[in-house]
Amino acid sequence: MTQIPILDLSSQHRELRTELLVAIQSVLESGRFILGPNVEAFEAEFAQYLGVAHAIGLNSGTDALHLALRALNIGPGDEVITSTFSFIATAEAISIVGARPVFVDIDPTTYMLDVKAVEAAITPRTRAIIPVHLYGAPAPMPEIMRIAAHHHLAVVEDCAQSIGAAIEGRNTGTFGTIGAFSFFPSKNLGACGDGGMVVTDRDDLAQRIRSLRAHGGRKKYYHEEIGLNSRLDEMQAAILRVKLPHVEEWNTLRRGVAAYYDDAFRDARHIQLPIEQLTSHNVYHQYTIAVAQRDSLSRRLAEDGIGTAVYYPTPLHLQPAYAELGGMRGEHPHAEAAADVVLSLPISPDLDAFDQDRVVRGVLDFTSASSAA
Ligand SMILES: *Cc1c(COP(=O)(O)O)cnc(C)c1O
Repeated sequence: MTQIPILDLSSQHRELRTELLVAIQSVLESGRFILGPNVEAFEAEFAQYLGVAHAIGLNSGTDALHLALRALNIGPGDEVITSTFSFIATAEAISIVGARPVFVDIDPTTYMLDVKAVEAAITPRTRAIIPVHLYGAPAPMPEIMRIAAHHHLAVVEDCAQSIGAAIEGRNTGTFGTIGAFSFFPSKNLGACGDGGMVVTDRDDLAQRIRSLRAHGGRKKYYHEEIGLNSRLDEMQAAILRVKLPHVEEWNTLRRGVAAYYDDAFRDARHIQLPIEQLTSHNVYHQYTIAVAQRDSLSRRLAEDGIGTAVYYPTPLHLQPAYAELGGMRGEHPHAEAAADVVLSLPISPDLDAFDQDRVVRGVLDFTSASSAA
């Protein structure tokens, strides 16, 4: 029996092989590897795709979040509110600038940060909110922007999983002060290595981030502040320029797989399905269900050659790395409960009908058997 990995990019790279090799070869022959024409062109194409004034290529999504906070002058003594149910990078960015992450619980049906919890967590030290568009679904941006405006807070959107996701036609990454994207290979738009991007409409922030990513200077060997080395490289930019025109089509294919799963699981009891709000456009970075016997189901599927993953098994407030913040079990019950039951199923854009069916049968066989027991 063939394996169904949780994500398979081999056919994407097979289809684009010729174009990718031409792009890579042209970088090789140009001899320009850092901040050359491909980065500049990709930034312009990315900004246009999203509908923002500025896009700045960086070396990772983690640095996109980190430099967004740096550019907003957030640092020691400041607090930044974010979801406890995210990848560690969201919180790391806050810690890297010396600020304190303040974790809040999630809405148990959407897994997005709970707007009421955000409001309750605001103190005189709060400077920003980082909503995370988890699994490719948009966080409730209109509500978050309302709270942010009322309390004069910046908003940095973590769009690592949400390229192309939208609310009422407006792209994630364009609501907040700054949007942070990742091109880690497994994201919906992935490089063949690390990469990231910051987007913003504010000229001052764009200029500051351009300077920070290249050692804090705009002129060579003249440094206005301590920056770092965090540039998207030409090779990755050339690869991403080949891929960007396909991202909408890949997202549509992911939505097709999700729709098939939705239909197949509609009447199954004991499975909580991802929900898509009427006005929101989910790009299904993950198709994540919730089932009580999650670990047994995952083992059963593995025996059938079906890959699954748990994003994320430990909420951030319970991570050893954040022990000093004194997070306790029971503090954010919805996130803690979700961490025990979520399971992401294979959702490659080109997962064919036969394999989709194998996944569906694997899940339904298990849930109907365990509910009878
Ligand atoms: C992938 C990811 C990041 C970090 O991106 P990198 O490019 O790997 O640094 C941040 N936040 C979330 C939610 C992610 O999924």
